[in-house]
Amino acid sequence: MVKKLVNSGGDCQSVIMFRKQLTSWLLERELSLRELSDMAGESLKSMESDLRHWARSLKHEGYRLVVEPARCRRCGFRFSREKWHKPSRCPCCKGDWIDEPRFHVEA
Ligand SMILES: [Zn+2]
Repeated sequence: MVKKLVNSGGDCQSVIMFRKQLTSWLLERELSLRELSDMAGESLKSMESDLRHWARSLKHEGYRLVVEPARCRRCGFRFSREKWHKPSRCPCCKGDWIDEPRFHVEA
């Protein structure tokens, strides 16, 4: 477990370890923000900010973060790729049957 590594006093080494862990998880499979935050023991909010920082540094390592945007299962509406957490309601059909955005990493 990599619980709270990023927030444990800002130790550089643990940030690097945490990012390596994220990369290996997301190279293996697609995960949502909720799943990542569960795995990392982070709140959704801090997981999202970690993820955004990490996505920026990822480019320098030759990887790319792919965001599969949230989608309404009722009408098929696709949300912006910029929305990383699950929207509560579809702006189109007002339905709440929504697939969470999912993330994965491509080399
Ligand atoms: Zn909809």
